[in-house]
Amino acid sequence: MKRLNPPVFGATLTVETCAAGISIPERAQALMDALPVIQASEVEYRELGSSARLFEIAESTTVTPQLSADLMGVIYKSHFARKGSPSRSLYEEIRMAPEFGICPLCAQRIVATVDHYLPQTRHPKLNLTPVNLVPACSDCNKRKLAGVATRAEEQTLHPYYDDLGSERWLVVEIQASSPPTISFAIRSPRVWGAVLAARVQHHFRVMGINELYVAQAASEMADISYSLENVGASAGPNGVRQHLDEQFRSRYARDANSWRTALYEGLRDSDWFCIEGYRMIRSPRT
Ligand SMILES: [Zn+2]
Repeated sequence: MKRLNPPVFGATLTVETCAAGISIPERAQALMDALPVIQASEVEYRELGSSARLFEIAESTTVTPQLSADLMGVIYKSHFARKGSPSRSLYEEIRMAPEFGICPLCAQRIVATVDHYLPQTRHPKLNLTPVNLVPACSDCNKRKLAGVATRAEEQTLHPYYDDLGSERWLVVEIQASSPPTISFAIRSPRVWGAVLAARVQHHFRVMGINELYVAQAASEMADISYSLENVGASAGPNGVRQHLDEQFRSRYARDANSWRTALYEGLRDSDWFCIEGYRMIRSPRT
């Protein structure tokens, strides 16, 4: 997961801007009348979000008696996020926040949408609340749909609130096989505590991150196999290790826990890989 700064604006601005673009007077009025309820919900969200207890927020079927979850859903889709609406720029500001448009939830795929961290059908009061709106790729968005956390450990990571720190925690294990077998593992630093450690594992499972990274890493190894063979032929295992170490340092300088950082560290630290494994990427032994 990639940490993101939360949006600089709050629900008052999204609600007022959205309402200004609604041409059906009763609908705009119902939304404006709901503002105090939405604001109170936002206060609760910020409070619980900062202590990783968002799962405690009670579900509801309405925002106010005049504003059902269904109508709030229509307002989000047909007014707030609609192209050309006055609030679309706020939606875009949230969606475009990640560097290079990379999804903060998987740190790999491209952002396609805005995800409601607490789902809009169960939490209509938070439908337009910026801190509940997280940019996401369509895979992460879909994968997250089904799950509802009933315990702290079942909460997926929240890019605005959760901080995994800069200690190394994503590691790669290399198995001597032809071609080499790699797998990713999470080595939880003590500072995380038990709940965060469980949440990171849960997040990886829900978003399908292990399979995603294994596929990316396999493709990366295929990409570098030719140059590794050249380095190995001229400089031997130490040359291979040094080459991998340089690659590791370059990735590490930018992100201590990207899959690439973990991959190059794992390859560098594997004696088997540096001595002979690198030659089995392109020409697996049968
Ligand atoms: Zn994603």
